[in-house]
Amino acid sequence: MKRVAVLGSTGSIGVSTLDVLGRHPDRYRVTALAAASNGSALLQQCLRFRPAIAVLQEATAAQALEHGLRAAGCPTEVHCGPEALDACAASADVDVVMAAIVGAAGLPSTLAAARAGKQVLVANKESLVMAGSLLVDAARRGGAVLVPIDSEHNAIFQCMPHTLRTGAAPAGVRRILLTASGGPFLRATREQMADVTPEQACAHPRWRMGRKISVDSATLMNKGLELIEACVLFGMEPSAVKVVVHPQSIVHSMVEYVDGSILAQLGNPDMRTPIAHALGWPERIASGVESLDLVAAARLDFEAPDLVRFPALGLARSAAEAGGTAPAALNAANEVAVAAFLEGGLDFLGIPALIDGVMQAHGNEPARGIEDILEADRWARALALARLGQAAREGA
Ligand code: NAD
Ligand code: MG
Repeated sequence: MKRVAVLGSTGSIGVSTLDVLGRHPDRYRVTALAAASNGSALLQQCLRFRPAIAVLQEATAAQALEHGLRAAGCPTEVHCGPEALDACAASADVDVVMAAIVGAAGLPSTLAAARAGKQVLVANKESLVMAGSLLVDAARRGGAVLVPIDSEHNAIFQCMPHTLRTGAAPAGVRRILLTASGGPFLRATREQMADVTPEQACAHPRWRMGRKISVDSATLMNKGLELIEACVLFGMEPSAVKVVVHPQSIVHSMVEYVDGSILAQLGNPDMRTPIAHALGWPERIASGVESLDLVAAARLDFEAPDLVRFPALGLARSAAEAGGTAPAALNAANEVAVAAFLEGGLDFLGIPALIDGVMQAHGNEPARGIEDILEADRWARALALARLGQAAREGA
């Protein structure tokens, strides 16, 4: 029986993870659940899975959860705060950690799970973007296995040779073909993009996801973050990762070998497939996902991304090439820009423009340790917020 902690359990990936876990009560026991502030959703999950521990970041929500659990006679202990989250990720009572918190907030717990030698299912791509080599080193030293959940990276993982070592370029691989759906604005002009609302940006044509990653998918920054993620996980140079737009989202990515063979992983666009793959790895377990009907799908189209309409992809590629603290600064500026867009304080085209401004001011440094990364994160957030404030004052 594997003991699983689901960090970010109330989010899109967290809910899909619990759906898969609920299908295999004979194989997995949910021992810990964690979320930010959504106490009522966490209460329902605790009543269903009866974990030993539940962690919330918001104190009032944690108190309400505690009351709800006691009233229902559920023995789950409630903890609160970032240290409790890290302790939960590293706990001796946990074998598998689903790292599904959104944003830089997921970095410390993902790192803690890697250091503690867990099987870490990495959905939190921001931690790989910010601190990829630190995370890979920590996993190696701690004896942890990192299994990617991002559908593209999970597909690549499945197409790689079985001798794959995280962070090391596998022999015989020529390049990675990273597929992108193109998001909701694949055919939109820049003029149309200037006026889009958060609701339009979050209405992804193929995937139902949290709001931050949905906006990232609409700007194609998601593909840019994934490019960095692919370099980190598979030890590839950025030039060996080619982005291909594939609107049907059926081919989840491909690996090309030096002999010209291309291996692809296909499936319905449902995150329960990569989640079940990573949970069961190296075995296979059922996910609840329907068979893919290729005859009904009929067509698989591929095209080049448009870097003029989607400048975020180019910004991410530059950060991948620069290395050091550039990806951490890029990620931080993007988080500030996306949050401002979702709150109505920045228009859609302002997202890449703000990130570009921050990256132009960024004096890149080598990332020697976590402090360098956190410093670049703080610096980029502060500058992005200052520029937003300045723009608001000038606009007022
Ligand atoms: P979401 O917004 O739906 O859920 C985020 C979860 O993280 C929630 O449970 C929330 O309570 C929790 N959380 C947020 N801040 C926290 C904090 N400071 N401390 C503790 N918990 C916190 O997001 P999502 O779509 O599920 O995405 C989660 C991660 O997975 C992201 O990094 C995203 O890029 C990645 N991912 C998601 C998908 C998808 O299909 N949704 C696909 C690939 C990768
Ligand atoms: Mg993805």
